[in-house]
Amino acid sequence: MRRFDAIIIGAGQAGPSLAGKLTAAGLTVAYIERKLFGGTCVNTGCTPTKTLVASAYAAHLARRAADYGIVLEVAVKVDMRRVKARADTVSGNARRGVEKYLREMKGCTVFQGHGRFEAPDTVRVGGELLSAPRIFINVGGRAIVPDLPGVGQVPHLTNTSMLALDHLPEHLIVVGGGNIGLEFAQMYRRFGAQVTVIEMGPHLVAHEDEDVSEAIREILLREGITVRTSAECISLAPHEKGVSVGVTCLEGEPVSVGSHVLLAVGRRPNTDDLGLEKTGVATDARGYITVDDSLATNVPGIWALGDCNGRGAFTHTAYNDFEIVAANLLAGERRRLSDRIPAHALYIDPPLGRVGITEREARASGRPLLIGRRPMSRVGRAVEKDETQGFMKVIVDAETRRILGAAILGTGGDEAIHGILDIMNARVPYDVLEHAVPIHPTVSELIPTLLNELRPV
Ligand SMILES: Cc1cc2nc3c(=O)[nH]c(=O)nc-3n(C[C@H](O)[C@H](O)[C@H](O)COP(=O)(O)OP(=O)(O)OC[C@H]3O[C@@H](n4cnc5c(N)ncnc54)[C@H](O)[C@@H]3O)c2cc1C
Repeated sequence: MRRFDAIIIGAGQAGPSLAGKLTAAGLTVAYIERKLFGGTCVNTGCTPTKTLVASAYAAHLARRAADYGIVLEVAVKVDMRRVKARADTVSGNARRGVEKYLREMKGCTVFQGHGRFEAPDTVRVGGELLSAPRIFINVGGRAIVPDLPGVGQVPHLTNTSMLALDHLPEHLIVVGGGNIGLEFAQMYRRFGAQVTVIEMGPHLVAHEDEDVSEAIREILLREGITVRTSAECISLAPHEKGVSVGVTCLEGEPVSVGSHVLLAVGRRPNTDDLGLEKTGVATDARGYITVDDSLATNVPGIWALGDCNGRGAFTHTAYNDFEIVAANLLAGERRRLSDRIPAHALYIDPPLGRVGITEREARASGRPLLIGRRPMSRVGRAVEKDETQGFMKVIVDAETRRILGAAILGTGGDEAIHGILDIMNARVPYDVLEHAVPIHPTVSELIPTLLNELRPV
């Protein structure tokens, strides 16, 4: 049995930085990672996909060159091997950076293998037994492979195997109209594939407002992507061209035939093979570890950070979990999970930046509201860039004058949304932002105008 001050299981987006703080405070840390340092984000999530999104944008802009008065004398060609190599390089550099950081960290011992609890203070990795009074779980999640009829009879892709492709599918069928599915759908369309998106629900990105999901649908349709919603009964079957996906839709053909199928219907936590039954750590029905406002589980000495606690599904939420735990344990602060204002982005082009609650949620709360809305066609910067699809919307509590939520679906929306996020985090009325003097010409400069044009609903 080897004893440490702390054990961290999983080198995702929370654990490595936590190891840095713990060792800097003089504690010894055993770090267990079973596969790729940096976890999902670095290896099979954010980093490679956003690198691919950038390549797809380059292809798209090249095809649109004439719109800007630029003459390309040859047709645009996409070299998928080079596109993939570029993503592999960016992702590989980040992965090696995380591994080097941990292996060179004074006070940190890295164990490569699958970690499994043997007792609430003991974890087995390979032939070694490690024990510590503090254990931090940062095991993340993986793609769900849904139990669809026929799923075992056809080869299917997930986000992980998609990223290993170095050729262009002739026709990619994406099952799932959420963030991950839509990002892959648009990038592969721009790389030159035919793409069909099949979504069970009536709207794409179901957690967003309907006006947002409808605008996203229009963006995708305009690029030639086929979108099938209300596909209540999806099934897969082999087909001479690849795969046939059965859909019961309100409209259109009952079957879509493609060469490849990507399953992007959600994720599940990596908690089923962690030996949690030996600890008494509580999980919910879907396997997410239950945590309190300080990320502590019900078992003293065990914390759960990142996607595996079900309280966030993003790199920035996992990283914020680290910040909360480190501040509370090492700096005597009392930071809370419930203080976090939710925010995320969808990296189609143009991107969607989102903060706070949706208009639907705000209306359901029964509060008096003020809402402002502006199409991107009335944003100078978007017009100048000839990227005018989408709109911005902000929702304000009419009594407290605080911003409740906002969406910017448009060029630069993933960056411009931060002005609103910052003012929400400052917990001040929207007037502070309305009176600011932003830089011209930017997308952000229209946010004060948007606030100036709020209307009661
Ligand atoms: C295609 C895709 C695109 C995404 N894009 C974005 C984006 O643009 N922005 C964003 O914010 N988020 C994005 N995400 C989500 C983001 O990747 C995750 O929210 C983030 O990686 C969660 O980090 P984590 O620390 O919880 O876990 P992870 O990053 O999943 O890391 C968990 C680590 O634990 C290890 N592990 C698991 N079990 C064990 C065990 N028993 N023993 C040892 N090691 C173990 C795993 O090998 C892994 O390395 C994307 C996800 C996907 C799939």
